[in-house]
Amino acid sequence: MSTQAFDLISIGGGSGGLACAQRAAEYGAKTAVIESDRLGGTCVNVGCVPKKVMWNAASVAMALADASDYGFDVKVGDSDWAVLKHKRDAYIVRLNNIYARNLSAKGVTQVHGMARFVDAHTVEVNGQRMTASHIVIATGGKPTIPDLPGAKFGITSDGFFSLAQRPQRVAIIGSGYIATELAGAFHELGSQVELFIRKDHLLTHFDAMLGKSLMREMRAQGLVIHEHVVPAAVTESAGLKTLVAADGREFAGFDCLLWAVGRSANVAPLELASAGVALDGGDFIITDEFQNTNVPGVYAVGDVTGRAALTPVAIAAGRRLSDRLFNGKSERRLDYNNIATVVFTHPPIGTVGMSESEARAAYGDVVKVYVADFTPMYHALTTRKSHTDMKLVCVGPDEKIVGCHVIGAGADEMMQGFAVAIRMGATKRDFDDTVAIHPTSSEELVTMR
Ligand SMILES: Cc1cc2nc3c(=O)[nH]c(=O)nc-3n(C[C@H](O)[C@H](O)[C@H](O)COP(=O)(O)OP(=O)(O)OC[C@H]3O[C@@H](n4cnc5c(N)ncnc54)[C@H](O)[C@@H]3O)c2cc1C
Repeated sequence: MSTQAFDLISIGGGSGGLACAQRAAEYGAKTAVIESDRLGGTCVNVGCVPKKVMWNAASVAMALADASDYGFDVKVGDSDWAVLKHKRDAYIVRLNNIYARNLSAKGVTQVHGMARFVDAHTVEVNGQRMTASHIVIATGGKPTIPDLPGAKFGITSDGFFSLAQRPQRVAIIGSGYIATELAGAFHELGSQVELFIRKDHLLTHFDAMLGKSLMREMRAQGLVIHEHVVPAAVTESAGLKTLVAADGREFAGFDCLLWAVGRSANVAPLELASAGVALDGGDFIITDEFQNTNVPGVYAVGDVTGRAALTPVAIAAGRRLSDRLFNGKSERRLDYNNIATVVFTHPPIGTVGMSESEARAAYGDVVKVYVADFTPMYHALTTRKSHTDMKLVCVGPDEKIVGCHVIGAGADEMMQGFAVAIRMGATKRDFDDTVAIHPTSSEELVTMR
């Protein structure tokens, strides 16, 4: 059996693995990426990218619905899901090819196959062994399907992107960002959507205002949200699914049922025990602040670590790791505080920093909150209305801003700049002293009283 030797091997050709390997190659390291599926990983193939295409399509549908209110004589027909999917898939193939070309251009060896550890410095793929002084585990995650009778009749977010036609009636189980984003896309593109949640609120990990406002907006748009539903089973008859709840209630007649109940790490095929890599109580790999695992020379970045499962986080952690390993920046690491993120619902959510309840738990009475809620000017002319809610969470006598949360049109593009300011330690006074841009929604963030 031949063995190839490298300075760095990335296991996983998704956001984190590619970023780490390419940065290492830029510093002259001999580098390989092992990918079992398509280059680009979750984000490009079954995550951010195709999801954003669907969000864009839904946004077009909403604009078309508003067009007559702005004086346009438009007759809107049905949207063609198959056409949209075809174009979306073609775009992703283009991205897959760009990733492959970028790796080649940087001299990174690409290996297609499933990697498993032989020991801490050796992996095996397709019967071939590869060794490296540094091995980065960037194998990401996969959607969870609950262990319930008939759960197999449901699809996951992966299956959403394979749907060849738009389903008529969709049941989505889950209350997190994937559940709410996909619910919005289905709804705007013409499906009847019912969302089933275990408790009585959406987006539990975010500031409570966001979930509450989103629930109000979704219901106003006609989505049905069933609260306090604990799934017990799914049955199928003539292609139609019935969700059976633990309390005996039955919800029938769905041609599509989608589980959006969490994600787990892709670790089983890695045979981590051969390298001695430790997991937390579940299946996520334990890493320290420098992405080190418990085994010297073995690192983990991205979703497989269970920390802030977002593409830019995986990329930043991967790049910083290579900066540290191959460019002498011994203290280079990712700061996981104040990471901004967007939930691509309608309206979208932009959020950074602590929720109000997190800040109160951490700082007590010195927390002061500013809120604004209004109907954006765009809706002055439209029959359809959508609301905006904003919150600034401030701490201490100088009112340092530790959290900024917005749900409303434009929140997606608004938050990046505010995240910079908050990361730099901005206070409420800094916001007040910033002259507003008028007429926008974002000006409300610098005029709150
Ligand atoms: C529906 C959805 C929407 C999302 N939207 C957003 C968004 O809008 N913004 C955002 O920032 N994030 C979003 N995310 C999250 C984002 O996709 C992930 O955080 C990101 O892809 C994580 O990158 P990663 O490198 O850790 O893993 P991945 O991108 O998942 O890459 C891991 C790769 O490793 C490969 N692999 C696994 N095991 C092995 C093995 N043993 N050998 C070889 N290869 C292996 C897999 O095939 C995969 O390609 C979304 C996720 C989903 C599911």
